[in-house]
Amino acid sequence: MKQIIKTADLEAAVKEAKQQQLEIGLVPTMGALHEGHLSLIERALKENDLVVVSLFVNPIQFNNKEDLEKYPRTIEADLKLITDLESRTEKKASALLAFTPTVDEMYPQGEPKEVYHFGPVEEVMEGPRRPGHFSGVAVVVRRLFDLAQPKRAYFGEKDYQQIAVIRSLLEQIKYPIELIPCPIVRADDGLALSSRNMRLSPAARQMAPAINATLEQAAEMAEYEEVDDVKEWVLDTLASWHEVNDCPDGLQFEPEYFEIVDAITLQPIAEWAEAEKNGAVGCIAVWLDGVRLIDIVKF
Ligand code: AMP
Repeated sequence: MKQIIKTADLEAAVKEAKQQQLEIGLVPTMGALHEGHLSLIERALKENDLVVVSLFVNPIQFNNKEDLEKYPRTIEADLKLITDLESRTEKKASALLAFTPTVDEMYPQGEPKEVYHFGPVEEVMEGPRRPGHFSGVAVVVRRLFDLAQPKRAYFGEKDYQQIAVIRSLLEQIKYPIELIPCPIVRADDGLALSSRNMRLSPAARQMAPAINATLEQAAEMAEYEEVDDVKEWVLDTLASWHEVNDCPDGLQFEPEYFEIVDAITLQPIAEWAEAEKNGAVGCIAVWLDGVRLIDIVKF
């Protein structure tokens, strides 16, 4: 692994790789790496000649200043995880670049003015609740595409709506990049791994797997219940969890939304048959212990 901080150095490395006709895989992250991120990097190492992993906490995608300030930054540990992964992976890639730019390096002209719109895929779920978020994601991802010029780009299904947004971005900018969605990696108890999990108190961390457990039960219910009934059951089950279970410290789940949507268009469905072609996905955002957790289930 080689760490690169300057965009000019990344451009030079990419230029050289392109001259040798190497295939480049890009894994954009905000650092604070865990096994979920590592699964994306591992796959990229197996499928490409050169892998670029970016670790950059992108300020313009945070619509909440406190969330940005509290976002974990663990760069030294991250670089060690990447080095260890690289040495234990049976890989195709001959090189791995960890790109760790500063904000000034990424945005030398100050905060970028470009704004992206994605139509219906951003008008649901996270979109209205996090104004400007997806445009901020698109700005940084496009910048990374320009710098790394990947053949393939790897994104996790944990941020399910983000994948639809990147798919739309690629259609808009017409870059011939293959978008590779990767499955969610979970802790043994089912909780979707997330950099935000480290902000949960031990008691909240013990409660958190109930989110995935509820979604898994919902997937079973979907075989015989209507869409609206499954939706209502998930929201009620989590919102009343503390009434039925022993929850210390006044902890409780506060669901922000749970939507059952078409897996590609992300539009809410009223009948299972509406998602016959693309499949249906349930997407949830839940507050617990002051931390906003998201997860999905495929129906
Ligand atoms: P982040 O650093 O949170 O921006 O995440 C970087 C990439 O890792 C995104 O494409 C995420 O969807 C993906 N990712 C985060 N958590 C997981 C997980 N538990 N399983 C699989 N991918 C994940």
